[in-house]
Amino acid sequence: MEKNIYLGCHLSTAGGFLSMGKNALKIGANTFAFFTRNPRGGKAKDIDTADVKALIRLMEENNFGKLVAHAPYTLNPCSATEKTREFAHFAMEEDLKRMEYLPGNYYNFHPGSHVGQGREKGIRLIAKLLNSVIKEEQSTTILLETMAGKGSEIGRNFEEIAEIIEKVELNHKLGVCMDTCHVNDGGYDIKENLEKVLEEFDSIIGMKRLKALHINDSLNPVNSHKDRHARIGEGTIGLEALRAVVHHPKLAGLPCILETPQENLSGYGEEIKLLKQEDFKI
Ligand code: FE
Ligand code: FE
Ligand code: ZN
Repeated sequence: MEKNIYLGCHLSTAGGFLSMGKNALKIGANTFAFFTRNPRGGKAKDIDTADVKALIRLMEENNFGKLVAHAPYTLNPCSATEKTREFAHFAMEEDLKRMEYLPGNYYNFHPGSHVGQGREKGIRLIAKLLNSVIKEEQSTTILLETMAGKGSEIGRNFEEIAEIIEKVELNHKLGVCMDTCHVNDGGYDIKENLEKVLEEFDSIIGMKRLKALHINDSLNPVNSHKDRHARIGEGTIGLEALRAVVHHPKLAGLPCILETPQENLSGYGEEIKLLKQEDFKI
């Protein structure tokens, strides 16, 4: 693969860690994402240390980029329900402990939905959770995902992400995962004006914070606040614009994770092939 291009998709944890690495190789991926527990929440499986070590070896031998683990969707630090906020605390704390078996990778989460409590309170609650779980000694960088702004989602624009980061004490442990479908739906026109969007990101959050990308096409136009992913080239952003993201020099080296609706792994293999090519007319 071209130097500094890291592409992959979400993989099932069902067969363990090494099997995810092998599945990634099968589809030409050199990074991947996985859910730290069932996306609907619940208990995490015990970790088999030999299995994790085997994955780390496979990743080294095949020059993998950083992995982008994903927190469950049910994790909402700014819920109005105390029980839900407690689950967010418990799950993130436990996930971060488990991530240390795979040192130096990324843990991405959706900042949350304030469910009518207002953005200020939402931002405060998200920062509060981060302040209580981040440890100086952790090797994992926690990523805040840019959101489409559906309902009361926090992270609908770069300003909200920046406000959370500012309120976190050990914020050198924080980064951002930019989801192309979400920023499109959030009002950032990456198809027509990628440069301007990246400049805006840089001036509001800082380019150094951008650690990973979710590469998705969108079923909806810019600023629709919908969050419906499309396959690469089958949405409003299009293959050419997404390829420009993957190959952008300012984004070199960042893991690019596909989250498109595919029936099977080979569908992702095809998308990886499409995105790898730099020349649109190949
Ligand atoms: Fe996500
Ligand atoms: Fe995403
Ligand atoms: Zn999404």
